[in-house]
Amino acid sequence: MQEISAPEEMRAWSRGERKRGRRIGFVPTMGYLHEGHLQLVDRARARADRVVLSIFVNPLQFGPNDDFTTYPRDLGRDRALAGGRAVDCLFLPPTVALYPAEPEVRVAPGPMADGLEGAARPGHFQGVLTVVAKLFHLVEPDIAVFGRKDFQQAMLVRRMVADLDFGLEIDVAPTVRELDGLALSSRNSYLNADQRRAALALSRALRAVEQAWRGGQADPTVLERRGMEVLRAPGVTPEYLALVGEDLRPVTRADARTVVVVAARVGATRIIDNVVLGEGVGGDVSVRT
Ligand code: AMP
Repeated sequence: MQEISAPEEMRAWSRGERKRGRRIGFVPTMGYLHEGHLQLVDRARARADRVVLSIFVNPLQFGPNDDFTTYPRDLGRDRALAGGRAVDCLFLPPTVALYPAEPEVRVAPGPMADGLEGAARPGHFQGVLTVVAKLFHLVEPDIAVFGRKDFQQAMLVRRMVADLDFGLEIDVAPTVRELDGLALSSRNSYLNADQRRAALALSRALRAVEQAWRGGQADPTVLERRGMEVLRAPGVTPEYLALVGEDLRPVTRADARTVVVVAARVGATRIIDNVVLGEGVGGDVSVRT
């Protein structure tokens, strides 16, 4: 596995590979890798000849009260996990290399970032899209794989690529969960045993909405109320539960393509999750960790 830190070297590597006719698949991450990230690598591998995985904890997407300094980091472990999944190139740009100065020009995410995570975390998606645009310019991938776990992010990246004519394909992979339903996240490492149990309220709430919908209920207000009932569990502070379409707008009637998005705090940890009604929580990938 090749390891590259310098942005220019990354671009040269990619161009060299492309010159040899190889398709490049790209998985951007913030590290502290888990099976959710690694399944994105598998998807990239299935669709490309070379896989680049980047690890960069992007200061631009963290707010002043967010966990930038405490975000979990373990490069040794990440290296072993990436190598074990046959990543061809690990891109590890230092912060000063991507941001030699405070960037003045940034990507404006537009109205799809107004609600949900965008409302809870002002400036977050501007930071995300700015770094994703930079990484796309350095890696020049043919395809990039994102997780549906961060649904709003994945839809915004897709929209940026369409609106700004980035010449690459965005693949969105299903959420990877623990067997008990908890969606894998690097931030789960913040949870103690009680909080981890409490955090199951999110996937339980998604399942409750899914069940009510399968039972014939299609009114989003009723479905949201049902989800909120289940989300309001001891140790859980709900932030939102909403039924939206791929455009992140609220739906007037729930159908198989409707996505239920949920966010809550468990202790000091903010957790997000979602489900596509037609696929269901059971349609996601479950793994034993
Ligand atoms: P992060 O390192 O949290 O920024 O995530 C990097 C990529 O992995 C993003 O595209 C996430 O959506 C994706 N990801 C994170 N957790 C999961 C999960 N449980 N299942 C699938 N993809 C995930």
